[in-house]
Amino acid sequence: MPESASSGYLATCSDRARNTQCSDSILCTCADLDNLAMEYLPIFVDIKQQTCLVAGGGPIALRKLENLLRAGAMVRIVSPTLVPELAARIDAPNIIWHQRRFQDADLQGARLVIAATDDRGVNRQIADLAKAAGIPVNVADQPEDCSFIMPSIIDRSPVVVAVSTGSASPVLARMIRARLESLVPAGYGRLAELCARYRNRVKERFDQQRDRRRFWDRVLQGGVAERIFSGHDDEADAAMERELAAGGSPSDVGEVYLVGAGPGDPDLLTFRALRLMQQADVVVYDRLVAKPIIDMVRRDAEHIYVGKQRNQHTMRQEQINALLARLAKQGHRVLRLKGGDPFIFGRGGEEIDTLAAEGVPFQVVPGITAANGCACYGGIPLTHRDYAQSVTFVTGHLKDGSMNLNWEQLAQPQQTLVFYMGLVGLPIIISNLIEHGVPADMPIALVQQGTTHMQKVYAGTLRSILGQVQADPPAPPTLVIVGKVVQLRDKLAWFSTIPDPNQGATTPLLPGD
Ligand code: SAH
Repeated sequence: MPESASSGYLATCSDRARNTQCSDSILCTCADLDNLAMEYLPIFVDIKQQTCLVAGGGPIALRKLENLLRAGAMVRIVSPTLVPELAARIDAPNIIWHQRRFQDADLQGARLVIAATDDRGVNRQIADLAKAAGIPVNVADQPEDCSFIMPSIIDRSPVVVAVSTGSASPVLARMIRARLESLVPAGYGRLAELCARYRNRVKERFDQQRDRRRFWDRVLQGGVAERIFSGHDDEADAAMERELAAGGSPSDVGEVYLVGAGPGDPDLLTFRALRLMQQADVVVYDRLVAKPIIDMVRRDAEHIYVGKQRNQHTMRQEQINALLARLAKQGHRVLRLKGGDPFIFGRGGEEIDTLAAEGVPFQVVPGITAANGCACYGGIPLTHRDYAQSVTFVTGHLKDGSMNLNWEQLAQPQQTLVFYMGLVGLPIIISNLIEHGVPADMPIALVQQGTTHMQKVYAGTLRSILGQVQADPPAPPTLVIVGKVVQLRDKLAWFSTIPDPNQGATTPLLPGD
């Protein structure tokens, strides 16, 4: 909801802004006003079942009406006409519409007034009457006539965050709101409800306020909150019961967050990934996670590197699975950070399989997989009405020097193929595709270090590509994209890589696969 603004009660303050002498000698002196920290007192008003008057039937009236209704008001609308969206809602039991112009008597019994007609004179007249009657009034786009303003809000009811810049800039307020949206997870409302449910019991359990605060600190930053955010409300209740039973000392096993870190560009992390990265106690990561992303993990978290490079596993998969379970059982919040998406060629399934078997709570956060990241940043739409009706993600990993794939299916026309881990086996991929009927002039792209400032794209055809890259062979990680969509790159490539001087142009951001 956009903010509309006013000066209202502090009308004399505007004199200060204009640098003129303040005119009100009783209520204010300019010196006193200079000490004011806030132009408005933010308060939350209970308007449930109370009559609120909205004068006007346009889009602004509609916006304000929606918020009044969300807060449980009975709304009286006065307007000769209504925009269609407003007209569509008029049958609701909590709305009464008077199809005419405003009359003084409309103010009767009103708890709040919104003046949003298209006539500034009428709006002012309504505001004057409301103020004289002691009813708070907000006037759309006429800050000087308001006695209250409506902030931009982030609604996670019962948690509501309100932002106002006074009358300075509704656009700025909206920008701040957008930032806060990303910081306040959608589950905060349900978390607050849980707090309300347990409030009395926590009070009974801990006499001292200090102990209560410590308890809530742990609950709100730990597993209980995370279980709410990941949609496991029942588990959150069970964890809460355990916390209460443990009476202050950490009771619980920790939790594992299996998080997709995306293909390299830190901007492609999800809000949830970032939040979990900043609250984990231990991070377990491997080669495919970009350094700038590792740097965003909570500073004092313990970092455990588990390697995983082609044919050179620092820790075997079973050992990693066991490590995650062990750390969580010790009570840690364990972040298992994976490149791309954990469920796409990431062995994420195996890792949580062990956790599930051992009863360790976990949640999985999707990440942007290399195919999405590399295709977008390479200017290659993976599907296109004219060229590809499907896209297939394939592993190009060699087992005993060969690839056991359904080549006939992969050779069908009108599709895009994306090979992960396909660099070493590239000659085998190409010869098999051609052998199974794919034209040798089929476009192919190799995207190296996709989405990072080190990204490099090699484009050619099945016939030409190996010769093309001979002098400057691509290094891992590289994604292979085969299909007619690759040629769209000529028009659509948009991402240019300007080496970041701080990163050192020769150091790969993403070590190999
Ligand atoms: N779970 C990951 C994939 C792991 S398999 C995901 O969803 O992206 C590893 C392979 O992914 C690499 O061999 C390479 O083919 C591909 N890959 C991952 N990140 C890449 C990147 N930034 N650029 C190019 N290829 C990438």
